[in-house]
Amino acid sequence: MTLPNENPTEGTHKNFIEVEIEKDFATKESLRGRSLMTRFPPEPNGYLHIGHAKSICLNFGLAQRYGGKCNLRFDDTNPTKEDQEYVDSIMRDVQWLGFQWDGLFYASDYFDQLYEWAVQLIREGHAYVCDLDAEAMRQYRGTLTEPGRNSPYRDRSVAENFDLFERMKRGEFPDGARTLRAKIDMASPNLNLRDPVMYRILHSHHHRTGDKWCIYAMYDWAHGESDSIEGITHSICTLEFENHRPLYDWFCKTLRIYHPRQMEFARLNLSYTVMSKRKLLQLVTEGHVSGWDDPRMPTISGLRRRGYTPESIRSFCETIGVARFNGTIDVLVLENAVREHLNQIANRYMAILDPIKVVLTNYPEGQTETLEAVNNPEDPSAGARQLPFSRTLFIEREDFMENPPSKYFRLKPGGEVRLRYAYIIRCDEVIKDASGKVVELRCSYDPETRSGSGAASERKVKGTIHWVSASTAACCEVRLYDRLFQSENPEEAAEGKTFLDNINPNSVTNIVAVVEPELARQSPGTRVQFERNGYFVVDEIDSLPDKPVFNRIVTLRDSWAKIASK
Ligand code: ATP
Ligand code: MG
Repeated sequence: MTLPNENPTEGTHKNFIEVEIEKDFATKESLRGRSLMTRFPPEPNGYLHIGHAKSICLNFGLAQRYGGKCNLRFDDTNPTKEDQEYVDSIMRDVQWLGFQWDGLFYASDYFDQLYEWAVQLIREGHAYVCDLDAEAMRQYRGTLTEPGRNSPYRDRSVAENFDLFERMKRGEFPDGARTLRAKIDMASPNLNLRDPVMYRILHSHHHRTGDKWCIYAMYDWAHGESDSIEGITHSICTLEFENHRPLYDWFCKTLRIYHPRQMEFARLNLSYTVMSKRKLLQLVTEGHVSGWDDPRMPTISGLRRRGYTPESIRSFCETIGVARFNGTIDVLVLENAVREHLNQIANRYMAILDPIKVVLTNYPEGQTETLEAVNNPEDPSAGARQLPFSRTLFIEREDFMENPPSKYFRLKPGGEVRLRYAYIIRCDEVIKDASGKVVELRCSYDPETRSGSGAASERKVKGTIHWVSASTAACCEVRLYDRLFQSENPEEAAEGKTFLDNINPNSVTNIVAVVEPELARQSPGTRVQFERNGYFVVDEIDSLPDKPVFNRIVTLRDSWAKIASK
């Protein structure tokens, strides 16, 4: 046992990967003297999403738990789709989530070594150059129920294979003209073992190796070998790769190189979300969202801009755990994770999203006072602030009803309500415009009921509402975000439709809110609670000094459950 921590997860339930890792270190000769080594291997062809966060938390988390290491490796073997912009965003996102890689590598670092190993396989009769084009290769491959047929090029001599492979590398042949294939078994029940392609010809500029290469390794050929070079002990991937494992093992065994163990877990699927990078790219390029970091995107950068905290994403990943069967997690679980964290850390403020003016007719004109308000009842160290109060205020339109049902405890004609941190007021008169819309409420306040003064407790009313004093109020742009898709599984589109048809047409509403003065001074990235409303963050991109733009992170309660039960 070379694990530094004998019982790292004692007292907590171990997931199946932890159980296997501990067993491996206890029993496997090949692991003697090694410590756990994992990697997170994104392809830099898009931004990371919440599914990747699961893999990041798992791989980096295991390394932390067992005193091991975790590398960040860019799986950059598809030059046409990859870009430095993606590399940069991925590094930023991993660090933002709170992790630091040990080694930073690129599969392209290993192109020379991979080439040498391919030559070794040719020399030992385990690989050959094949001239079948993609279509012919498909036909030779057979199906799940029928064996494949050997390629007519399968029995080329070592010398001929060697010569052709070198000329492929030198650029003598056009794209797609030839491939290098592993010589395994065209009758294998596992299609991945039917002489899989190792290299294809692609005259394409690579974001790191430039024009040095015109043959590029396929995923299966590059991946396990990169793991081996880095001394990865456990190569953890998603379930789609389970039936690639025999190939992973075949390459390591046939090359006689250090052999990591591949293990698979279920990928994360979230309701009301699409997660494939191809679809996310389409949302961006076709302008359905403002970019990869649009606050409605399930990307890490989108969630960051939306106001999610790294802690909440890590706690979400912890909550959902790892399993060996695919399922879909309700997006409510993610929303609850951020709500829970923000409840601990976000200061409370008052903001009115849809104002009605209230005039306190018995409050002296020109008089002002300040009231003390608690910043965060969950965190005494957050302190208190001074709230200005005056004769003219704004309250939320939905906190007043002219003809309310009997159990309505907010403001109604002739009724009383408490203004949070302030006084009890009574609505004496309702003023409407020509169209019948309520434009002003004339109220009177009871000076004996100021919150915090002993007398306040003597008179009780059932409702308390929030408010903002008009003379000191600021106006701020607020973006009310909702789910980007209106169906639970956006990929399940009706006949002739695509996932794009499931986009929620009302996924963002821009409004101008009236807010207490403190709110207008918050700096970009600050997360706050608008009392009785939701959690909001000051947008990092569009806010100007003293002109914050607020993004709604999440409502205080699950508003979708309410809609569904109506
Ligand atoms: P996509 O299908 O979205 O393009 P991918 O699997 O091709 O994703 P990679 O960049 O190759 O994306 O993924 C890097 C790592 O993240 C891989 O180990 C992959 O298994 C893991 N990963 C990707 N999507 C998910 C997911 N939804 N849940 C868990 N892990 C994931
Ligand atoms: Mg991939």
